[in-house]
Amino acid sequence: MSVDIRRFSLPVIDYLKRPTLSSLRKIDDEPQKYPLPSVPEITEKEIREALMQEVMAHCCYGKTPAKELVITEIKQSIAFRYVLETFTERRATCWIEEPFTGGAVDKQEMGEPPDIEDIPATPPALFKSYVYHQEIPYTANIETCEECDGEGKYECPTCLGQGWEFCPYCRGNKWYPLAVDSFDGDCVKCQGSGERTCWVCNGDEEVGCKTCGGAGEMKSYIRLLVIWDNHVDDYIVEKGTALRAHRIRCVSGINVCEEEGVTLLPLTHFPNSTVTMASVQLIKYHAKQYKDEKVLKQRHRVSIIPIASVRYQWKKHEGLFYVYGNERCVYVPDYPQKCCCCTIM
Ligand SMILES: [Zn+2]
Ligand SMILES: [Zn+2]
Ligand SMILES: [Zn+2]
Repeated sequence: MSVDIRRFSLPVIDYLKRPTLSSLRKIDDEPQKYPLPSVPEITEKEIREALMQEVMAHCCYGKTPAKELVITEIKQSIAFRYVLETFTERRATCWIEEPFTGGAVDKQEMGEPPDIEDIPATPPALFKSYVYHQEIPYTANIETCEECDGEGKYECPTCLGQGWEFCPYCRGNKWYPLAVDSFDGDCVKCQGSGERTCWVCNGDEEVGCKTCGGAGEMKSYIRLLVIWDNHVDDYIVEKGTALRAHRIRCVSGINVCEEEGVTLLPLTHFPNSTVTMASVQLIKYHAKQYKDEKVLKQRHRVSIIPIASVRYQWKKHEGLFYVYGNERCVYVPDYPQKCCCCTIM
């Protein structure tokens, strides 16, 4: 469903004036200094269109109630969604052993490995999880492959270096096993030879070394892992409807404030005290939860989700459904005309 985004291009209001200690104490009884922008109401036309879209998306919903129902009440309300993102970096190392296929090697004896914190690494994008790895200079060592003694191949373990194995059909007996009363019938699979070419080495008697991939040498080194994680948590403030947080979380709203910084202070001057408490607690939670990671950036925002609670009547059925978010999503808990398979919530 298309949504006219221009309707929501309201100016972002600065709620982010830094609090003093006294203002922190007065959050709840302080009058609203910064009124919220008025949220465009969801119109009856939009409600009917959204409901019809929802019904069309369910093959077992009858369309008649959506066309005929009488809307008896539309109650407009809003929900707040506070989102905190903490973008962190942590570094780790691990030993790597892999086939050596040639090329320059930063051997251990050639220099001193740098401290892993000093190795430059930049995330490809902020607020996106990503893992980068590289070889740490002066940690490499080249050794002969122990598996093949540097030959790159070894005796075929299936045929023990013979290049052939017994025919699995006649088990090497050369005669056809079903012709029990005529022992001179040749096995049709091996034409009476009792053997077949080894399927693993194809008669070569040797197979390539799986450890070194035929290279004969192995390279070992320490790998640096740089892990960038974007930790996202949110809190939904919504009262008075049966819409659960997971539904509201799936839609977008009007962004009314956003801030980005290395570490953020809570939004203590937002007009809704539950949002300010959520901000305080989530910032505290992230500081504790990710204390072992280096915080590169944080950002948080509050968006307002419009909700229309719609009472309706269709024949003798009275019901309630919700239209919410910029996407005009619909939640109809008790649609009056649907088959039994759709009643499972
Ligand atoms: Zn055979
Ligand atoms: Zn073989
Ligand atoms: Zn090998």
